[in-house]
Amino acid sequence: MTNRSRISIPRPDQSFASFAGLPAVYVHGATKSFGDRQVLRGIDLIINKGEVVSIIGPSGAGKSTLLRCLTLLDRFDGGTLAYGDVVVAKPASDGSGIEYDRESIPQARMRFGIVFQDYNLFPHRTVLQNVTDAPIIVQHRDRAKTEVEGRELLGRLGLAEHADKVPCQLSGGQQQRVAIARALAMHPKVIYFDEATSALDPRLTAQMHDLVRELARGGMAVGIVTHEMGFARDVSDRVAFLFDGEIAEEGTPEEVLGNPSDPRTRAFLARAE
Ligand code: ADP
Ligand code: MG
Repeated sequence: MTNRSRISIPRPDQSFASFAGLPAVYVHGATKSFGDRQVLRGIDLIINKGEVVSIIGPSGAGKSTLLRCLTLLDRFDGGTLAYGDVVVAKPASDGSGIEYDRESIPQARMRFGIVFQDYNLFPHRTVLQNVTDAPIIVQHRDRAKTEVEGRELLGRLGLAEHADKVPCQLSGGQQQRVAIARALAMHPKVIYFDEATSALDPRLTAQMHDLVRELARGGMAVGIVTHEMGFARDVSDRVAFLFDGEIAEEGTPEEVLGNPSDPRTRAFLARAE
């Protein structure tokens, strides 16, 4: 790692236990425009080790754009993004826009996993191969060990007997758990979910709740992007309300959902009841 990718980041809240003394995810002043339309207007967001943070907001608020930029599928055009001590992007030294650090990007990619809304499984690979391909090919891990670990992971997620099937032979809930196993197989420090529960019935939603809390107990930082209030309230340590590209309000579910101070949050909650 180069020295320039290790700048020091102030810890905004000493009361949170952080990964290596730093937040697992650190975003400051992040902006993003499409053409002349500004979709993210200065996002500040931190997710600490062992913490579940949900980003809630109405359709069009910028949730997917934020998640795409956090996961390096797209790029912010201003601000700072860091995973632990890996600073991926920071304000350009000449004051114009943002500078992504080419060497930090692959390091950051090792630190997070994402479970896409539509799972994005490889249809012609078996469930086990979906889980083990990336660790073997991208991380160059030992095939036999990775397969043992993959089967163990699938077992933990209740998928042991499905390891040698292809994804289309599984239900939606099972496919989602394959996507989770695939993310976890990379040993990430952060896992993101895009609309974790929109396709799940109440029983599977309860299972997802338990799984997310278990991941957090194990020290994972969990980021959830959702328009579903109920799940976010039950599973999160903190929620952030995203409106029109701005975090209008942030706090514990009790604070934000029980006693919202921002009128946009109040209106959104009133509609969601
Ligand atoms: P959400 O996920 O909260 O529904 P999005 O991040 O998908 O919101 O979209 C936020 C805004 O950005 C919307 O107005 C959307 O039309 C716009 N947008 C998203 N992606 C693009 C794109 N690739 N090009 C142009 N506009 C986009
Ligand atoms: Mg979206």
